[in-house]
Amino acid sequence: MRIAIIGFGKIAGDQHVPSMAKVGGYELVGTVSRQGVGVEGVPSFTSHSELLSAGLDLDAVAITTPPSVRYAIARDCIEAGLHTLLEKPPGVTLGEVEELARAAEAKGVVLFTTWHAQHNPPVAAAVERLRGKTIKAFSIVWREDVRKWHPGQLWIWEPGGFGVFDPGINALSIASRIFPGALFVRDAELFFPANRAQPIAAKLTLESPAAVAQLSAEFDWRHSGGEEWTIRAETTDGMKLVLRDGGSKLEVDGEAVPGTGPGEYPSIYEEFAELVAQKRSHVDLTPLRLTADAFLVGRRTQIEAFDD
Ligand code: NAP
Repeated sequence: MRIAIIGFGKIAGDQHVPSMAKVGGYELVGTVSRQGVGVEGVPSFTSHSELLSAGLDLDAVAITTPPSVRYAIARDCIEAGLHTLLEKPPGVTLGEVEELARAAEAKGVVLFTTWHAQHNPPVAAAVERLRGKTIKAFSIVWREDVRKWHPGQLWIWEPGGFGVFDPGINALSIASRIFPGALFVRDAELFFPANRAQPIAAKLTLESPAAVAQLSAEFDWRHSGGEEWTIRAETTDGMKLVLRDGGSKLEVDGEAVPGTGPGEYPSIYEEFAELVAQKRSHVDLTPLRLTADAFLVGRRTQIEAFDD
């Protein structure tokens, strides 16, 4: 597959390029960043329009820009007949991603809304363990230091930047994948620094017909001294399941359960190749819907200004 990466920044270099190489079957033939950052030996462009008119005989694109500019870029790529992989979150509104799905179907190309955390091998094992169960207790704790994980990334604080939901949506993507029933948001409190347009922390109460209690989620970007990315579930028949380190480690009743699979981003690129071979899109809006609903029902609490 002849592929280009649009929005060449941290995740493109850290994960997309090595994962394509690891999986094989991909040829990176172009990159786009407004500052011309890319990979040595691969043509780089400063806009997606320039890429699309360069005559590269592309099959596909991976769009790894900040989410706020993704819709217009994806729309043009789909219109150009390219299979399109979207980094998470796939857009800033449900409506624009639904429209991309419609456009991809009309054009006969594949749209893949990726949620990398779901591709951690232990997540599939957790799905199996929780299938058909009733949940007695469930909590998400997602705390990290924004200064460590998003140095100098101003877009995360702007409208459409998601704030602490940028990592929090990863937790919601795992939760929605492993939960043995529908999940929805009952209420939320969102903590906005006085100088920022997006929240730095959030507390959510979730509900599900597959649970006998309310469920909690806590996201916090003000946490230094090591990150905590943990999901705990307890079932009415007494099973205790813990997913740690962002879904990369699973414990069931205190015993480590190994997962099998190639790892997050290689698994994404394996799936993309399969989807293209089968001409089938994979569009999952649930984590974005849960996030949007948290903003809809959330109480806004203003806190002291935060500077990077
Ligand atoms: P980033 O380092 O800021 O990279 C985004 C890149 O997009 C920038 O280098 C920027 O380069 C480029 N860009 C911005 N606007 C553009 C436009 N209009 N056209 C073309 N390129 C544009 O951000 P990131 O951390 O890689 O995150 C990108 C996405 O990946 C986000 O949705 C994030 O949630 C997701 N993600 C990030 C991580 C992580 O650890 N960082 C992990 C998983 C997923 P120029 O300024 O040169 O244009």
